[in-house]
Amino acid sequence: MRQIAILGATGSIGCSTLDVLARYPDVYRVAALTGHSNLERLLEQCRKFRPDYVVVTGDHNLQNFTDQLRKCRLPCELLHGAEGLDYVAALPQVDTVVAAIVGAAGLSSSLEAVRAGKRVLLANKESLVMSGELFMAEARENGALLLPVDSEHNAIFQCLPGDGKCGVRPEGVRRLLLTASGGPFLNTPLDQLESVTPDQACAHPNWSMGRKISVDSATMMNKGLELIEACHLFSMPPQEIDIVIHPQSVIHSMVEYFDGSVLSQMGNPDMRTPIAHALSWPNRVESGVDWLDLVKTGSLEFHAPDLDRFPALRIAADAAAAGGAMPVALNAANEIAVEAFLQQKIGFLDIARVADKVLAKTEQWTPSSLDQVLSVDQQSRIYANEIAEQLCKH
Ligand code: NDP
Ligand code: MG
Repeated sequence: MRQIAILGATGSIGCSTLDVLARYPDVYRVAALTGHSNLERLLEQCRKFRPDYVVVTGDHNLQNFTDQLRKCRLPCELLHGAEGLDYVAALPQVDTVVAAIVGAAGLSSSLEAVRAGKRVLLANKESLVMSGELFMAEARENGALLLPVDSEHNAIFQCLPGDGKCGVRPEGVRRLLLTASGGPFLNTPLDQLESVTPDQACAHPNWSMGRKISVDSATMMNKGLELIEACHLFSMPPQEIDIVIHPQSVIHSMVEYFDGSVLSQMGNPDMRTPIAHALSWPNRVESGVDWLDLVKTGSLEFHAPDLDRFPALRIAADAAAAGGAMPVALNAANEIAVEAFLQQKIGFLDIARVADKVLAKTEQWTPSSLDQVLSVDQQSRIYANEIAEQLCKH
């Protein structure tokens, strides 16, 4: 039996992962589940999957939760906080860790999983954006197997020659093409973007996802973060990675080889496909995703991204090229700005403004330890909060 720990089990990726795992109770056993605020869902998952450990990271009174665990005679040990996450990420009996916490909060436990040499199904792109070099070096040194869950990176992984090694530049590859749907505002008149609401930004045309990544998709900061993620996973410079708008979200990304061949991976936009691929790699299992009906899709379109509409793309590409502290600052600024937008404190277009201004204040240097990364992260959050407050007043 493969033993799995799911970090961020109550989120969109966590739930999709459990949906796939539930099909194979004889192959996979859930050893640990973690949740932050949605304790009702976490309890329901504990009842269904009976893990050995459950971790709660949010600030709650856990009496009721503990009573419920007892009442249902669940044998799980309850752990708290970030230490609990790090602990279950490195449990000796666990061979596979699904890193599906959103944002910088997922960095430490993803890194722990890599340091413990696990098979790591990586959804938490922010950990690579923040600490790519460190993360990939730890993976190499500790023999961790990194399997990308982000659909674009999973697609690229599937289009590469199959030895499953992330962090090594693939042979014969000229370019990676990251596809992007363009999100809900691809064709919205530019003068309306200033006043779009969080609900409009979270209404993605093709994918169902958590709120933070939905807003990132609407600004296209998500694609910028994915550019940085791809640089680290596939050891390619940002100049050799192109972004292509493909509104149908059927092609999930492409690899162009020196001979002119372009390989793509296609499928319905449903995260259970990359999750099932990464869980079962190098084999294949059913994921529950519908067959792709290309005739019904009709046509596939491709466009160059409009950098006036999506300034976050330019800002992220600059941060990718600069490297070092810049991607850390970018991620922190974006997390603060997205949260402020979701709380309706700043406007949609302010998200990119906050990122731009934080990067302008950030000194260029290369953090070489987790502590140094976290100190850039903290400082950038302070800048971003100040800038967001100034924007609030306008
Ligand atoms: P969700 O917001 O749906 O879920 C996030 C998970 O993280 C939840 O389990 C949440 O707990 C937990 N969490 C939130 N804050 C904290 C914290 N401070 N400490 C510990 N745990 C926390 O996000 P998604 O599932 O959409 O995304 C997860 C990651 O996967 C992100 O990095 C995203 O970029 C990436 N990703 C997601 C895709 C998608 O389709 N959803 C596609 C590709 C990548 P709770 O809900 O209990 O509060
Ligand atoms: Mg993606």
